[in-house]
Amino acid sequence: PYKRVSREFHPEDTLVKINEDVVFGANTPIIIAGPCAVESYEQLLHIAESVKASGAQMLRGGAYKPRTSPYSFQGLKEEGIRILAEVSREVGIPIVSEILSIADVEHFKNHIDMIQIGARNMQNFDLLERVADLGKPILLKRGMSATMEEFLLAAEYILNRGNPNLVLCERGIRTFETSTRNILDLNTLALIQKESHLPIIADPSHAAGRFDIVSPLAKAALAAGAHGLIIEVHNDPAKALSDGKQSLNLKTFDDFMRHKTPAL
Ligand code: PEP
Ligand code: MN
Repeated sequence: PYKRVSREFHPEDTLVKINEDVVFGANTPIIIAGPCAVESYEQLLHIAESVKASGAQMLRGGAYKPRTSPYSFQGLKEEGIRILAEVSREVGIPIVSEILSIADVEHFKNHIDMIQIGARNMQNFDLLERVADLGKPILLKRGMSATMEEFLLAAEYILNRGNPNLVLCERGIRTFETSTRNILDLNTLALIQKESHLPIIADPSHAAGRFDIVSPLAKAALAAGAHGLIIEVHNDPAKALSDGKQSLNLKTFDDFMRHKTPAL
């Protein structure tokens, strides 16, 4: 059903290059870390310096937040993008941030190194095409109820538009189990590496919904061949404006980075 994303049509692994040092799909897993949402310049600067010192190669931070409730913090929006760009320059770390709407393409174009399309927008085909047209690296997250085929067909929209700079992200799917937020689908993480030449990373934070199992899920994903991880990290998770419960603090993230390679 999919062609351009398929290994059948493109047997070699695709490498997605952010800069000389950050390449998805090569031998080194790329670790992206940072807060769910950008809350202030000081907050992001503090987190960026810390996660970089711990070994993260990229910084995450949402400026536009897709929240379940309209009464929850919606992000700093344009101001958040400005803060991300400033911190990125200051600390020397590339950034990934989620776009929610075609209307915001211009803000992302000049300031964001890698544009995230979130689970809720995986099948927003207009958005996929407009973002693909920028030619920049894209991080496409799997929809929370999307099959592997639907996920790869969404990816096909982007490649079909002439942009091969795509990294996939398994971020947990909905099942009957309610004890965690989602289930990290390691089956699909492993199978996609057979089906597709695109790099795939894992998001153990949104899969778990709680910080205390993020580290084992992250290690499991690396053991299953993930080309990287995206992990939510906050300087004070109890006070975070979004997803504090699943955020590692700076010290826990640092501990994870020292011990992330499982002894197999
Ligand atoms: C996020 O990365 O903060 C996010 C909203 O992710 P997802 O789209 O996977 O829910
Ligand atoms: Mn989040």
